[in-house]
Amino acid sequence: MAYIIFLYVWAFINTTDLEGHELDLTFWCNRAGTLAASQFPLITALGTKNNLVSLVTGISYDKLNYVHRMMARVVLILLWVHAGSEVVYEVPFEQYLKEPWLRCGITAIVALTILCVVSLRPIRAGAYEFFFYAHFAMVLTFLICSYFHTQYDTITYWIYPCFVIWGLDRVLRVVRLIVFNHSYFGFRSGSTMDATAELLSEDFVRLRFHRPSHFHWTPGQTAYLIMPSVSRLPFEAHPFTIASFDSNLFSAVEEEKPAQEKSNRRSLAEHALGSSTPFWKEVVFFINVREGFTARLKDAAVRGGKVKVFVDGPYGPSPDLGLYDTSVLIAGGSGVSYTLPTLLDIIERVRDGKSNCRRVVFIWSIRDANHIHWIDDTLIRALQLAPPSLSVSIRIHVTGAPATIEPLPRLYGNGEGSEPSDDDSRSEIVELEGGKAMEKSKDSLLAIESVKVENGRPNLPAMLREEVECATGRMSVSVCGSQAVARSVRRSLRFPVSSPLNVLNGGPSVTLHVESFGYA
Ligand SMILES: Cc1cc2nc3c(=O)[nH]c(=O)nc-3n(C[C@H](O)[C@H](O)[C@H](O)COP(=O)(O)OP(=O)(O)OC[C@H]3O[C@@H](n4cnc5c(N)ncnc54)[C@H](O)[C@@H]3O)c2cc1C
Repeated sequence: MAYIIFLYVWAFINTTDLEGHELDLTFWCNRAGTLAASQFPLITALGTKNNLVSLVTGISYDKLNYVHRMMARVVLILLWVHAGSEVVYEVPFEQYLKEPWLRCGITAIVALTILCVVSLRPIRAGAYEFFFYAHFAMVLTFLICSYFHTQYDTITYWIYPCFVIWGLDRVLRVVRLIVFNHSYFGFRSGSTMDATAELLSEDFVRLRFHRPSHFHWTPGQTAYLIMPSVSRLPFEAHPFTIASFDSNLFSAVEEEKPAQEKSNRRSLAEHALGSSTPFWKEVVFFINVREGFTARLKDAAVRGGKVKVFVDGPYGPSPDLGLYDTSVLIAGGSGVSYTLPTLLDIIERVRDGKSNCRRVVFIWSIRDANHIHWIDDTLIRALQLAPPSLSVSIRIHVTGAPATIEPLPRLYGNGEGSEPSDDDSRSEIVELEGGKAMEKSKDSLLAIESVKVENGRPNLPAMLREEVECATGRMSVSVCGSQAVARSVRRSLRFPVSSPLNVLNGGPSVTLHVESFGYA
């Protein structure tokens, strides 16, 4: 807001020359134009994924994208003021239409106007690919035409830095792509980035592949996936949240051991982790099937076999929950990609003495009871790894029709293997009746006391109120799911549940983190 006021005041404040004479229209016209041009480099930087502003401020690129859009709209208004003044000033205007500088100016402003229209949220959300390519074409047209237009006023120094900033971002992304995917580029023999796509249900695909050696991420971060055999358009990259955890639980010890011991240690670790190994050792994604790229990925999963994947990332913020005494993690469907690694991270940090978290509540809503199998082994291992000082509560809500949890063949075996395991601990059938889980298997997730599975939507207001009442110190609530879930959590935490008064009465100070899987 301050930025908008500042720019408009600067553009329109009453100004005279040094003798106190009123300035003519050309002055206002040029001031609006120059002021607008001076913002181009910053707008460009704020729209890139690797930018200096993010590096210096620590604010993630997706948050800066709001500012990028807002600044572009402010500049559009300034440019129309500039253009309008030209029309009034340059009379008769028609004779100037032959001038290349004016033609370039008109083309530039038309391109920016189209750009601002296609960037409106309904268009961006409804037709992302159209937005993406239109944005690229219009930005290029706008900057090239602006360059030739501003040559007349010799202020091209505001334009060419935009190409440099954009080019640097691209170079960085290409370098990252080469570093993380170098086996493709022939620098080293070894495993390629072949991913396994598994169809979990009609609407969900799990994609997993070996972690590239230099690729590290923190919970909640996103990677852009480029899959030439699945994409329809060149450079098509889609963001997905990494559902696995970049753990050093076992690697820290491995580093100190001789090679033979290291591999023994690794296989021991993988044995201990069982079929949940990929969530600690690989890069895993849960992908909701939509209509475009994800639908084609589903077809690839149905066909079976491997798909080639290039990873670009990681990007985006990662909530630092190490400082909180209580953490509540709420997810709907594939939102578990955000909350599962966060849960594993909290447990590992408490084990390492890096966090004093005392309680973590993991709430997951799923449409079908069988979705529990996506992560049940991982949750069991997580609960086994949790130190006694940390109370972990798992609450799973099945929102679809009351159902039966069917035995699933293992989707992958220990570590490397993809063969079904002969472990029959999951061969029991567990009925859900009257909203309660009926336990039959001794070593299933449902046998664990701190795990509750219920039918129906979670009563988030009641659950959050209860947690706030019991908590002290700092409490974080992280939510990743539909807009409705996020709204419900926001409403639940309103006054008086979370308020300064509550803190004065000894209650917790509550921080809310919302991840919406999309650009707002
Ligand atoms: C930061 C972030 C993290 C995400 N994490 C996950 C995740 O872990 N699991 C998951 O299932 N989905 C996730 N998504 C959403 C996922 O990127 C889109 O659903 C996917 O790109 C849709 O591809 P499609 O071609 O099948 O979509 P379409 O059926 O063509 O469109 C469906 C929706 O996806 C949006 N979309 C399409 N392409 C893109 C793109 N390249 N970038 C952003 N949005 C796009 C469209 O605007 C539309 O609203 C995430 C999105 C973002 C921005």
